[in-house]
This record gives sequence, structure tokens and C-alpha cells, in this order.
Amino acid sequence: MGQYEFDLFVIGAGSGGVRASRVAAAHGARVAIAEEHRIGGTCVIRGCVPKKMLVHGSQFSEELRDAAKYGWTLGSAQFEWATLRDNVMREVGRLELLYTDTLRRNNVEVFAERATVSGPHEVLLAGGRRCSAKTILIATGARPAVPTFPGSELGVTSNEIFSLAALPERVVVTGAGYIANEFAGIFLGLGSKVTVIHRSSQILRGYDQQIRDRLFEILSGKGIDFALSARVTDIELREDNSLSVHVEGRAPVDADLVLHAIGRLPNTTGLGLQAVDVEVDDLGAVRVDSDSQTTVPSIFAIGDVTNRMQLTPVAIREGQAFADRQFGGASHRVDYENVPSAVFTNPPLASVGLTEEQARERFGTVKTFTSDFRPTRNVLAGRSERALYKLVVNAESDIVLGIHMVGPDAPEILQAAAIAVKAGLTKAQFDSTVALHPSMAEELVLMR
Ligand code: NDP
Repeated sequence: MGQYEFDLFVIGAGSGGVRASRVAAAHGARVAIAEEHRIGGTCVIRGCVPKKMLVHGSQFSEELRDAAKYGWTLGSAQFEWATLRDNVMREVGRLELLYTDTLRRNNVEVFAERATVSGPHEVLLAGGRRCSAKTILIATGARPAVPTFPGSELGVTSNEIFSLAALPERVVVTGAGYIANEFAGIFLGLGSKVTVIHRSSQILRGYDQQIRDRLFEILSGKGIDFALSARVTDIELREDNSLSVHVEGRAPVDADLVLHAIGRLPNTTGLGLQAVDVEVDDLGAVRVDSDSQTTVPSIFAIGDVTNRMQLTPVAIREGQAFADRQFGGASHRVDYENVPSAVFTNPPLASVGLTEEQARERFGTVKTFTSDFRPTRNVLAGRSERALYKLVVNAESDIVLGIHMVGPDAPEILQAAAIAVKAGLTKAQFDSTVALHPSMAEELVLMR
């Protein structure tokens, strides 16, 4: 045994921390990881994975309605929240065991308790044990932000949403980012009445204007009630246990559940960072360089705790790059250009590269191409909603700078198309690809 008990001590067993641990261990490092909650972290336990299953579950209501138009007689359909909730939780439990098993098989020592940093090379476990490590990796993720108006504590966050005792009849969502829109869609699909209360005039800041406008139009048409440019002043608990959400200058909105989805904050509180001079920014995010190194040379940080790009696949890449560089002699870094993302609404929105607004700012003149169409499936189902695909192209080089889509299966299609954007292909190369007919994806090579 060398000077230290471990070569690497990772705090936080989410997507990034688990990847870094097992890759470092595979490179031969002696690795320990501490997790105070459940192995798997936000994405696996109370984020992307269970959310996606709820999205699937919620979409059956529309599919069952559509089925009638396709000739199916199904009788009266019933939905039971407890069945979906418990099945999702069971699957989450299975994945947690798989993640735990992966760590053990790679000889990573797992401590199921909170850990804090007690020195540049020392971690203190909640049980009192001190562990020394040559390198410490902070991968503690982020937590939902909660608003501060009176009664805000009567609402829940995405942490609690997966284990609700019953399906709420009326849901109010505060915020209009990823989580707000995804859960608004889930609850609408499951049969709740949904109101989204949002401080700004538009949803999904950062996405291409035309695409988010189309999504807004579709979601409103499906029945989500959006209160835009609206400010919640307080939430009141009524005698019958229901909630009344008070909004400045508007009528109050009645609710059985309020979900706060106003962003996520880095988990650095009480982690001991200040005492060892690891710098954090105003939001509490750990400051790191392009190697994920903090202001203390032996301490690194990856994932949501650094607030670079709050996306699981990015945290995984950061974990992989960190472990490969520190323990595998590699020199690669994470490339943050052209990272695809999606919002799992119904229909979903997906995007890669520059929006039209960003491209104009960077290149001056750009060309845009759009395909605005009614997916075949909707035609027979008698639904009027239209998909919208958009290509943003550099007018000089013809390189496709961005693809933005709203429509059925958009994330599935965009993942493949993102390779073309990442590879710097031109619009002419898109056009020279023969269409796969009949499909929605063929629109990507038919825009003129
Ligand atoms: P987002 O950053 O996506 O959205 C936050 C929303 O809350 C915005 O509409 C914002 O409005 C609003 N808001 C921010 N601060 C306040 C405030 N003080 N009062 C009222 N409203 C406020 O955060 P989410 O919580 O939805 O998600 C957190 C992160 O998790 C995302 O950024 C994303 O990276 C990740 N995520 C990714 C998913 C995916 O990839 N599909 C799914 C879920 C989460 P405004 O526009 O005015 O700023």
C-alpha cells in the first residue's frame, strides 16, 4: 500500500461518479466511492430513467384513442397509478442492483454513507472513518431548486414525484423548462388537469424559437393550460387539503399537487469544500478547468455539481475522460460542441447544434429549411397536430449547423442525424442521401 489508502475516492455514485470509478479501477487504480442515497444517482433513481417510463405510460391514453380510428375496439380502458408507479420503482430497484454489481465486480469499495472533504487528500465518512486518497472526485450532482414564496413548501419537486400515493386530479407546475414540460405531459396523459405557471413569455428557453413555438401550440392544443408571464405569490392549503395557487393579477388556480421545476442547484452545501479552498461559483457549482480539475490540484469534479451542461451523457463523458486521463495515460477531453438534447413531451422535441438565432449571431447570414408536415399516423387518427423539422445551414460553407425537430420519435431520429452535424456534413450531402420512404425521418433529406 502506498502513501494513501486509495488512489481515487469518488463522492457520489450517480452516472458520472460510477463511470469514473469503474474506469479508474479498470485502469488499475484502488478506488472507493461513497453514496448517501442510492447507487445510480438522479438519472437512474429519480430522473431520466423512471421519467421515460412514466412518459411511455402516459402516452397510452392517446394511443388507445387513436386505436379506435384504426379499427380496434378495446372496451373501457382504466388506468391505475399504483401499478405504473410500483412497476417503475421495481425497475429502478433492478437497475440500482446492476449499478452496484458493476462497482463490486470492478473491485470498487462502496461506502453507503455521506462523505465530505476533510483535506486535499482526505475524505470523512458520516460514520466517522477517515479515508486518504491521492485523488478525490466530487460527483455529487444537483438538487431541485425550490422557490421561496409563502407556502412553497406545500409543493413537491421531481425528487418526490415518482412515489405519489395517488394520481392528482389537478396539477400545477411552476417553471417551463425540461422537467416542467415533461411532467406536464405525463400528468395530462394520465388524466390530470394541468396548469403550467411560468415567469417568462416563452417555454423552453434556449431551444430554437420556431420549434418551441410549435411545441407550445401542440401542448396547449392537447389541453395543458399555460399561464405565461405569471408570478406565483403564494400557495394556500385549504381545509379540504387541496391547494390554492395565488398568481399576481390573476385568478387563483386550484390544485391537488404543485410541482416545482425551476432548475437544479449543485450539491455542494456542507461538503467541506470551502475549508480546503475548492472554489465554487455564486450558485455553489464547483469551478473546474477543461480537465475537470478544481482549484485544489488533487481534487476534481464532474457532472451536474460543476453546472457545465446538466445532462447525464455529458457527466458520463466527463467521468470517462477524467479516469482515462488520470489513470489510463490518455489525453482526450470532453467535446461540448454539438451535444444533442431532447425534451420528452408528447410529441417530443429534439435538437442538436446551433439554433437559427445562435447561428445568425455567429455567422451573420444563414439559410434555414423547414418541413412542416402532418405525420401519417396522425392523419388516420384524426389528429391535426403537425411535426416541424428545421435545418440551420451556413450560407457560405453549406455545412449543417443545427437540426431542430418537434414530432413523434424526434429524439430517436435526431440521435442518428446528430452524427452528420458532428461530422460537419453539408446540406448537399443530406440532399444526396436517398429518402427512406415512407418515414418521418426522410424529411431531413427532402428539404429544399
Ligand atoms: P430548466 O433550467 O430546464 O428550467 C427551469 C425553468 O424554471 C425555466 O422555465 C425558468 O424560466 C424557470 N425558473 C428558473 N428560476 C426560476 C425562479 N426563481 N422562479 C420561477 N421560475 C424560475 O430546469 P429543470 O428544473 O426543468 O431541469 C434542470 C436540468 O435538468 C435541466 O437544465 C436539464 O439540463 C436537466 N434535465 C434534462 C432532461 C432531458 O435531457 N430530457 C430532463 C430533465 C432535466 P426562464 O425561462 O424564465 O429562465
